Amino acid sequence: MPSLRPSWVIQQVVPPAILTYFAWAWRRCTWTIGRDYLFLGLNHRWLGAFYMAATNILIPSVATIFLRLYFLPSTQSVPPCRPPVDIASLKCVFECSPPPQALDDGYSLVVRGSTPAPGTADSLLSHCHRGRCGGRWKPARARHCSECGVCRAGFDHHCAFFANCLTAPHLPAFLALCFLTPLAVFVLATPVYWPLFFRAIAAWKESQVDPRAVAWWSWGPSWIVAGGPVGRWVAGLALGWRALDAVDGGLVAGSQRLEIGCLCVVGNVLAAITLALGWSTYTHIRDGELTVDKERTRALLRTRDSIAKLVAAAQPVPPALTADLERFGPRHWFFVPTPDSATWAGVILPTLPLERPYNLGPEGNLDQAVSRGRGLRWLLPWVAVRAGMAQDEVLCWPLDPDVAARLAQDADERVHAQT
Ligand SMILES: [Zn+2]
Ligand SMILES: [Zn+2]
Repeated sequence: MPSLRPSWVIQQVVPPAILTYFAWAWRRCTWTIGRDYLFLGLNHRWLGAFYMAATNILIPSVATIFLRLYFLPSTQSVPPCRPPVDIASLKCVFECSPPPQALDDGYSLVVRGSTPAPGTADSLLSHCHRGRCGGRWKPARARHCSECGVCRAGFDHHCAFFANCLTAPHLPAFLALCFLTPLAVFVLATPVYWPLFFRAIAAWKESQVDPRAVAWWSWGPSWIVAGGPVGRWVAGLALGWRALDAVDGGLVAGSQRLEIGCLCVVGNVLAAITLALGWSTYTHIRDGELTVDKERTRALLRTRDSIAKLVAAAQPVPPALTADLERFGPRHWFFVPTPDSATWAGVILPTLPLERPYNLGPEGNLDQAVSRGRGLRWLLPWVAVRAGMAQDEVLCWPLDPDVAARLAQDADERVHAQT
C-alpha cells in the first residue's frame, strides 16, 4: 500500500492538474482568444486563423509528450535480475565494484584460468537489496529510486511532474517537453500580454475603490489566510479584477477577464520551471554527467566531511567510511578481458585521475543521449517520443574510445608481464 508521504500525494495531484491545465488552455486559446478576440473581436482574420492553428499544433504536441512520459510502464529501465550474457561470461569490458584491496593505489587483479570460476561475475558486480530489488544486478550509472522502490539503469532523476523516473532512453522526450512548453506559452500568450498588463493595472485601481476589495485590505487576517503578504496582494488584485469583469464582461469578447489572466500566469510559471529544468538537464548531459554522478560527488564530500570530523575529535574512522571514499570517489574500476587465445584472462583496472570514462565530449554526449544523429529533429514531438538510448547501451554504458583503448592496452601489458 502506498504510504501517504507528501511526495506521493504531490505525485497524485500534479499530473492530473497539468492535464487539466492543458485542456483548459486549449479551450480558451482556441475559442476565447483565437476566435472571439482575434478573429471576430479585432477582425484580424489571418492572425486569428494562425493563432487557432498554432494552438492546435502546440498544445496537443506538448500534451502528447507529457502523456508519453506519464504512461511509461513502472518497469521502464529496470535492469534485469541477472546481467546480460556478455557480462556474466566476462567477455566484455564493464564497470565493476572496487576490489577489496582497492585502497592500495594502482592495484589491479589478474584473473586467469581455463574458464571463469563460477560466480566470478557476481563477485565483481554490484547488487541491490533495497525496496523491491531483492538482490537485483545494479549496472554502472544505475540508481535505486526510493520513490519507485526499484533500481533504474541510466537514472537521471525522479520527476514529480509525471510521477516516474527520468532515465536515459527518455531524455529526448523530457528535453523536448521542457523546451516546447515555454515556446508554446510564449507564442500563445503574446497576443494577450499587453492587454492583460493594462487590465491588471486597471484591476489594481479598482481594488482601491471596490467595497469588497476595500474590506479585504482592511481585514487583519488577510495577511495570513492568503499565504502571506504576496498572497494578500494577489487576492486583493483578483477581487478588483472580478469587480471590473462584472462591469464590462472582460472587455473584447471576455479576452481580458480574470480567468484569462490566471491562465496566462499559470502558463508563465510552468514555462519558467520547465525552461530551468530543461536547461540544467541539457547542460549536465552535455558535460557527460547524469544527476546520479552529481549525487556521487556530493556523497564523497559528505564522507570526507565525516572523516575530517572524526579525525579532529581523535576518534577512530570506521572501515566502512574509508571504503565509501573509494565508492563515491572519482575513480571507476573496470573489468577488462584480454584477447588471450588459449586461456581465459581478465584484469581489473582503475581509471587514471583525470580520466572520465563516460565523457564523449560535449557533442558526443549530446549525440549519444539526445540527438542520436538526428540533428535538431529530436525536438519534433513525433521524433522526441521515440526512445533515445537503447536498453543494451544503458545497461553497459559506452566508454570514451580513448579510455577504452588505454584500458585494453594496460590490461594486455599486465597479462603478458605475468606470463
Ligand atoms: Zn535497487
Ligand atoms: Zn522513481
